[in-house]
This record gives sequence, structure tokens and C-alpha cells, in this order.
Amino acid sequence: MSRCEICGSAERREVCHLAALKKGEPRKVINVLCMRCGLIFNDPAPSDEELSKYYQGGFLQDKTAAGYEEIVLSAERKKKNEGRKELRVIGFLEPLLKKDTDILDIGCSTGALLSDLHERYTGKVTGVEPDELYVRVAREFFKLPDIRHEFLDDFCSRDQGTYDLVILRHVLEHLKSPHRRIEQLKNLLTSEGALYLAFPNGARMRASRELAHSLEYGHLFTYTPWSIHHLLNSHGLKIVKWGFDDAMQLQIAATRAEAPFEAVPFNEFLEGSDSEKMFSYIKRHDRRHYMFRALRKIKSLFPLGLGGRRKAS
Ligand SMILES: [Zn+2]
Repeated sequence: MSRCEICGSAERREVCHLAALKKGEPRKVINVLCMRCGLIFNDPAPSDEELSKYYQGGFLQDKTAAGYEEIVLSAERKKKNEGRKELRVIGFLEPLLKKDTDILDIGCSTGALLSDLHERYTGKVTGVEPDELYVRVAREFFKLPDIRHEFLDDFCSRDQGTYDLVILRHVLEHLKSPHRRIEQLKNLLTSEGALYLAFPNGARMRASRELAHSLEYGHLFTYTPWSIHHLLNSHGLKIVKWGFDDAMQLQIAATRAEAPFEAVPFNEFLEGSDSEKMFSYIKRHDRRHYMFRALRKIKSLFPLGLGGRRKAS
């Protein structure tokens, strides 16, 4: 049994035995909730081999089951949409960026966000992405000049210099060892550089859709505002901007404590009693989830319905 990696507390409760996959059957993963800081984490976490295999193929299959052409078609369609989420992320970051900002996007996926940034800023843009198909789209469709087909650890194992903006959009929750990660990311920042994080908000799970997303397979950690604030602060980083992204997930910009930006109050702190609320909410959802799965199973065993199908008159 592991202690909470963020606050060190051993007081935890098991909340869920399943992690949803968008396609296919859910996998068995035990999620526990830290009763002190509200962090939800896999215990035990899947092995490095299992995760590495997943991100080099299974992840994309699980998300969309789409091939190269379909991904490109969808990217082309999205590019025409003036309200696309990439532009909203840029709107959030704009006040922190200089024209010649150097940008690193970790887990850049198809490179859609990097491409929009590349059109607006003159600095170098670099993407890191473990999935081969996404890398192909980023290089061939978006024509991004510097996309590395590798994991963050491999990227960091060489001297990679520093960036004015480091992006992890829905990536942090997939990464093991949060303290080591934040230190690694901090080392990639210039003295005034900003770290952008977007991730599911454990303390704000209300709709079952949000919950299923937060507890999906590969999410090793679901952070609460308290746990992320504590994590960043303990590595000398301060939150200079925060808000909600288009999916109502948290987005945060953080800089080194000494950078000339003002820290903003991050007032969505989790109170101790909120862990109790989170616990009962997840338990309720979990029971419903099991019921739906059982019903689906019964339906699949009796495709014509239990009483047989009536002929249409
Ligand atoms: Zn904790």
C-alpha cells in the first residue's frame, strides 16, 4: 500500500476498481482517494512496460480507433473552426508570451496546438509525442519542423535547453512520479518561462461523464486544486493564472517563484470535508456504472430481447 505521493498521508479509501476505456472493455485498475488532499491515484500503478506499450499504439486506438486519413480529415475540419479549443488555449496564455517565445509541447498529439502557436509566434516550436501516427500527422499534415518521436524521459535524458513555454495539455495525469516530473519540467523553463498544465479536476467531478473521463485508463493521478498547488509550490513554482478549459477541466500557468509575474489566489482549495463528498459521489457513480455494465451484458446475451421481438404490423 502506497502513501499519497503529494501530501504523504496514509489515510485513503478505495474508490473504484475500473478504469474506463473509450472503446472496449474497462480494465481493472484500483483507484484510491487520499482523504487528506483528495488526490485520486492508481494503487498499484500499471507497470512501465504496460504503459509504454499502451502509448505506442493502444492509446490512440482506444481514443478514436481512427487511421491516418481519418485523423487528417478531422484535423482539416477543426482547423477551419474559428472557435477551436486550441485558439482558446492561446487566448489564455497570450498575456504571458513574448512574440519570440520558444515553445515545447509535451505529448503534443497531432500538433494542432503547436501549429496554431507556430503561426502566431516567431520562436522555435518543439513537440514530443510517443505515438507514431500522431507524429506522422504533426510532421506531414501540420508541417511542424521539430517533432520528436519519444517519451519525456528520453527527451530529458539529453540536454534539451530551456523554453519560454512548456505545455502539458492533458498529459500530467498520465505521468508517474509527480515530484520528479515537476522538477524535470522546471529545469526546462527559462527564468521567466511558464508551465501550462491542463488536467481533470478531481474536486469538481459532478457529471458522470467527467468522472468517467477522470478515471479513465492511463490516468495515474487525478489532481485536486489543493494537491496541484502543493506540488508546484514545493518545487518553487507559483500559479500566475488559472481557469477552466473548454471541457471544464482546470488549466494553470505557473512560473518560477522569482519570475516577475504576480501569483494569483488559487481559491478553489479542497477542504477536508470535500474528500468525504468526493468519496460518496464516486461510490454512487460506481454502483450506477456496474448496473449499466450488467444491463449491457444481459442485452448482449439476448439480442432480440427477453420476450422476443414483436413483428411490426
Ligand atoms: Zn494526499
